[in-house]
Amino acid sequence: MASPKIHPEFKRIFSDMVTARRMLHAWPELGFEEVKTSSYVAEELRALPGISVHRGLAKTGVVGIYRGRTASPTIAFRADMDGLPVNERPSHFRDASWVSKNPGVSHACGHDGHIVMLLFFAKVLVHLYPPSTFDGTLVFVFQPAEEGGGGAEKMLADNLLSVGDIKDIDAFYGIHLMSGVPLGKLAIKSGPIMAGIDTFDIHVQGVGGHGAMPHQTVDSILVATALVQQLHHIVSRNTDPMEAAVLTVGKINAGTAVNVIADSAEINGTIRHFNAAVQSVLHDRIKTLCAGVAKAYDCTIEAKVDPEYPPTINHEKETEIVVRSVKKVLGEDGILRMQKGVMGSEDFSYFLNVRPGAFMFVGAAVSDKDINKYPHHSPIFEFHEDALLIGASIWLQLFEDIFIQPSVRSGLTAMGTGSRL
Ligand SMILES: [Zn+2]
Ligand SMILES: [Zn+2]
Repeated sequence: MASPKIHPEFKRIFSDMVTARRMLHAWPELGFEEVKTSSYVAEELRALPGISVHRGLAKTGVVGIYRGRTASPTIAFRADMDGLPVNERPSHFRDASWVSKNPGVSHACGHDGHIVMLLFFAKVLVHLYPPSTFDGTLVFVFQPAEEGGGGAEKMLADNLLSVGDIKDIDAFYGIHLMSGVPLGKLAIKSGPIMAGIDTFDIHVQGVGGHGAMPHQTVDSILVATALVQQLHHIVSRNTDPMEAAVLTVGKINAGTAVNVIADSAEINGTIRHFNAAVQSVLHDRIKTLCAGVAKAYDCTIEAKVDPEYPPTINHEKETEIVVRSVKKVLGEDGILRMQKGVMGSEDFSYFLNVRPGAFMFVGAAVSDKDINKYPHHSPIFEFHEDALLIGASIWLQLFEDIFIQPSVRSGLTAMGTGSRL
């Protein structure tokens, strides 16, 4: 791997970045409960000259506005802040000082790293590029509740596009660290990069009774298992085989004792898709199969299918802006052009549904061997802390390429050159 081009300022403050990351890692907070985390972010931003800070969007969201000589263009860089309800397992990566101190909650997706990359980029930015040196407005978006709460949608509902004195946001950019992508690489694609997600909740109402007298009952466990078999036919038999789709039943709850026929059963699951046509087939078939199985077994089945996050669709122009900038940081071979999107989901999709932008995966594997050994959302998730330098450097390069005119840059040669890691 060619060495990434890391600005010397980031190298100088790297130990502070690691300290901050580990402090945040020890304080993981769930979506909309990022009280301590958002206070820390807001205080750090307030300490920086020229950044105005706005709090309370989507409850715990924090926005920083950094205006240059002009209002336009107005560009948003986003970091999500929430942890997950995952019980962290002790690991040789973490000593006792920075294991999660919030039982049952951990930063198992790397959002602690996202906060640090954006915040420390801000600290370096205000010193390298005071407002008199660039045209435009940078909006720092520290978003709550990506992991299921739809914090992005709620920030938009709370007027993110006109927060403070801004008139609009022209484009959004987002970074996600990826433990399954090699350090020093960036994975990206134009078009659909992450799937849409919906959830379904099914209630089977049978007739309970004695385990020895099934003829007097409608066994809801039998109905539920028959229904699960049917649901798994939807992707194999009803959706276009050239289109990606997933249906997973993640939970079934029924029954109280070995000799009691269960009165009711609950089935919960998730579906993933990249377009509205596939989404509609999945929704319709779930409901049709529930109605058919209810008829077949002479019981009632209620099915609720709730849209969660839409697919994340990168815009072509902004994707190429990212690629052009990241090549300067990671080299020509640092770009992994993804052939397909991934089936995971992101509420960054809400930003890309209303404005152009691009979402990117920054490689953060702890080692090139066993690349999938520390997966996101697992109790042993881990990322390489050198990725913090890379992510912050990508933010800086993107800023320079979007906001700094060549004439201005030539006057800043002592500051903007960078060096090799
Ligand atoms: Zn996640
Ligand atoms: Zn995440």
